[in-house]
Amino acid sequence: MVSECGYIKDLLSQKDILCVENESLKKHTSFKIGGKCKILAYPKNSEQVFYILNICKNNGIPYFILGKGSNLLVSDSGFEGVVISSKNLNNIKLISDNEIYCESGVNLSKLCSFALENSLSGLEFAFGIPGSVGGAVFMNAGAYGGEMKDVVKNVTHLDNMGNIQKFRGRDLKFSYRHSVYQEQESFILGVVLKLSKAEKSKIKLKMDELLGKRKAKQPLEFPSAGSVFKRPKNAYAAELIEKCGLKGEKIGGAQVSEKHSGFIVNLGGATSDDVNNLIKKIQKVVVKNSGVFLEPEIKYIKSK
Ligand SMILES: Cc1cc2nc3c(=O)[nH]c(=O)nc-3n(C[C@H](O)[C@H](O)[C@H](O)COP(=O)(O)OP(=O)(O)OC[C@H]3O[C@@H](n4cnc5c(N)ncnc54)[C@H](O)[C@@H]3O)c2cc1C
Repeated sequence: MVSECGYIKDLLSQKDILCVENESLKKHTSFKIGGKCKILAYPKNSEQVFYILNICKNNGIPYFILGKGSNLLVSDSGFEGVVISSKNLNNIKLISDNEIYCESGVNLSKLCSFALENSLSGLEFAFGIPGSVGGAVFMNAGAYGGEMKDVVKNVTHLDNMGNIQKFRGRDLKFSYRHSVYQEQESFILGVVLKLSKAEKSKIKLKMDELLGKRKAKQPLEFPSAGSVFKRPKNAYAAELIEKCGLKGEKIGGAQVSEKHSGFIVNLGGATSDDVNNLIKKIQKVVVKNSGVFLEPEIKYIKSK
């Protein structure tokens, strides 16, 4: 892989694709945890994404797609392959009175602000959820009774055969924190969102109200990846964790947040093992106390 690294870098630079070698992923995750990857590439259009995916496939190089890294725990040993960032896929435009097209690397909060500027309602729930639009579709991100499923009209992606496809409705298989993209390998390129016209002041009021709730309840002063576990049926993960006396529980630099027990925070210098061991401990204690198995929502990234 070491010699392959220079070879891949050369191939990418031939197509004018921005990339960096041996980049620490700690800098690219909201948890501030993670070792190095061999190459971090920043394609700026679908042709460049296609080209990078082809290089990886033809050379048997593992890859993963990075949005804003706000739902990831990356191993301290890093990722022996190519990380493809959506950061430079960042166009956003109005395509009709009530529809927005945006590329997958656009910041979700930027999309919400764009909707507000254009007096479009429907995305208020998402204001303040960190991450990219691609990551939000992949995860069917949601909060306060809303989720991406409610506003996504269609999604354009590059599938693993190199075809550009458009999925809509049932094809997207949206359910709680789930989309079809968790079942098939594809690079989400862009999304059309269908919203409704409303008064700007009302949209703004709702966005401010929900952002206020977020700031009051979440430990935003520490690095984290948000809620670690999915919401179990008829229960709340944070409540179950708290009932077991695990609020504030620490392993190394990782702690069950004292403000919101559904979050694990990095107090400084937490390793991926610290977080994984804390997750395992929580799962063990909670299942013993309540019979409920807490399934992680965050995605763990490591080399195979
Ligand atoms: C403080 C905090 C609060 C949070 N609050 C919420 C909340 O209220 N609701 C909620 O749902 N989530 C919340 N989250 C979690 C997180 O913000 C969301 O899951 C977000 O949608 C992830 O987007 P991302 O761009 O950061 O994705 P990443 O973390 O970079 O990636 C997540 C997954 O999506 C895949 N992916 C990303 N982009 C693409 C693409 N273009 N094509 C294909 N696959 C892609 C990645 O490979 C990975 O598997 C919170 C996180 C934090 C840190």
